[in-house]
Amino acid sequence: MNYKKALEHPIFKIISETTETLQIDSYVIGGYVRDYILKRNQHKDIDIVAVGSGIELAKAVAKNLPNSPKVQVFKTYGTAMLRYEDIEVEFVGARKESYREDSRNPIVENGTLEDDQNRRDFTINALALSLNKADFGHLLDPFDGVQDLNNKIIRTPLNPDITYSDDPLRMMRAIRFATQLNFTIETDSLDAISRNSERIKIITNERIVVELNKILESKKPSKGFLLLEKTGLLKHILPELNALKGIDEIEGQRHKDNFYHTLEVVDNISENTDNLWLRWAALLHDIGKAPTKKFDKKVGWTFHAHEFEGSKMVYRLFKRLKMPLNDKMKFVQKMVYMSSRPIVLANDIVTDSAVRRLIFDAGDYVDDLMTLCEADITTKNPKKFEKYHNNFKIVREKIVEVEERDRVRNFQPPISGEEIMKTFNLKPSREIGIIKESIKEAILEGEIPNEYQAAYNLMLKEGERLGLKVTN
Ligand code: ATP
Ligand code: MG
Repeated sequence: MNYKKALEHPIFKIISETTETLQIDSYVIGGYVRDYILKRNQHKDIDIVAVGSGIELAKAVAKNLPNSPKVQVFKTYGTAMLRYEDIEVEFVGARKESYREDSRNPIVENGTLEDDQNRRDFTINALALSLNKADFGHLLDPFDGVQDLNNKIIRTPLNPDITYSDDPLRMMRAIRFATQLNFTIETDSLDAISRNSERIKIITNERIVVELNKILESKKPSKGFLLLEKTGLLKHILPELNALKGIDEIEGQRHKDNFYHTLEVVDNISENTDNLWLRWAALLHDIGKAPTKKFDKKVGWTFHAHEFEGSKMVYRLFKRLKMPLNDKMKFVQKMVYMSSRPIVLANDIVTDSAVRRLIFDAGDYVDDLMTLCEADITTKNPKKFEKYHNNFKIVREKIVEVEERDRVRNFQPPISGEEIMKTFNLKPSREIGIIKESIKEAILEGEIPNEYQAAYNLMLKEGERLGLKVTN
């Protein structure tokens, strides 16, 4: 079969002509070809293999492009990159690789196209399309990658034990592609991942997180986490999640398996949000349950203050994995910390003041928090399922209603500390805090409206109670 149609973009013709002038061969390889055949969203990065110098080819191509874009050269890797319109083209010379025990950085020599295809991670990523004049668009598929695409199979071109041991990142990539594409990892490959799982330790956290994020961004992330668990990778990279596995039983009382519950929550939330950080929050919302688990003769299993513990664990986990310790991390912490708050409401009659407090504490994140809590409903009892969802619907309606009326989302007290000091001629002191707190409480409880005059009157009343004198 000829794949000329995959190469309709003018850039391919320019690369082809440049290759011809330089008297070398070149091919499009990897993700671009794979995704074309899968009819996935058109790939915006194109990988080109030159049988010769990739850097030279990149420079020559850039000269032939209308706007002569800049070429970024990565000398240590022997690669070069240029941007054309919204496309990123990466050039590399065909290479042969051999690996050492202690590193994922191979010894590299120049090679043929076949050598280069041999070093690719999966058969479906080793597909190459010729850009050479003689057979432009011809597919080179030495490992039956197209057949694997049709059968939805992830398979390594060579012995999987060697492929994974050489570069253990490929284990994460196998699971990531299986999750993204909804493919099956072939049995030999899966067994090889289990055998080599410990070698994941030589991979940097940054690279592991790239793959974890791609798993989390998939349609059904649970697939990836189940594979990570099954192959033994999970305990090395996310021990906090691994610790949620299992059900204990004492005196006939059991708790749910919080690992499988968590995966259900992640799948649920993925149907309602593409926000990666909210998906992280779903993944981590129960991690505090492992260290706080206790059995109490009277009440059974408890996870006292697991939300607080969990939010502290979020920080340590992000730090260990070299993830950003910025507002994204704080967002995940806040979601974890507040993850049980709306549930109390869902069980009960929903009062205005409870909703007002929820809005006050969650601020701008209140909608995300509701989305998390809705995803957290995994009961298999249809009556309860409906009841909880209905109550959350009421909570959501109340949130809109209360917010419109009371504007507590980004609460600014109507009376400032300065005004209290001026009114009673006070220096900074305890009394100011007491008065401010009682105004805030009265507003949240709905005893007074969130307005200046009402707050002012309450301030006077509180001042009198504290024995303060008005000075102006
Ligand atoms: P995506 O861009 O969607 O993540 P991709 O297949 O393009 O998918 P890249 O990481 O961009 O993935 O890599 C481009 C190509 O380089 C792959 O298709 C594969 O052929 C090869 N490749 C990438 N990483 C490895 C690896 N660790 N071992 C072997 N080959 C790899
Ligand atoms: Mg790519």
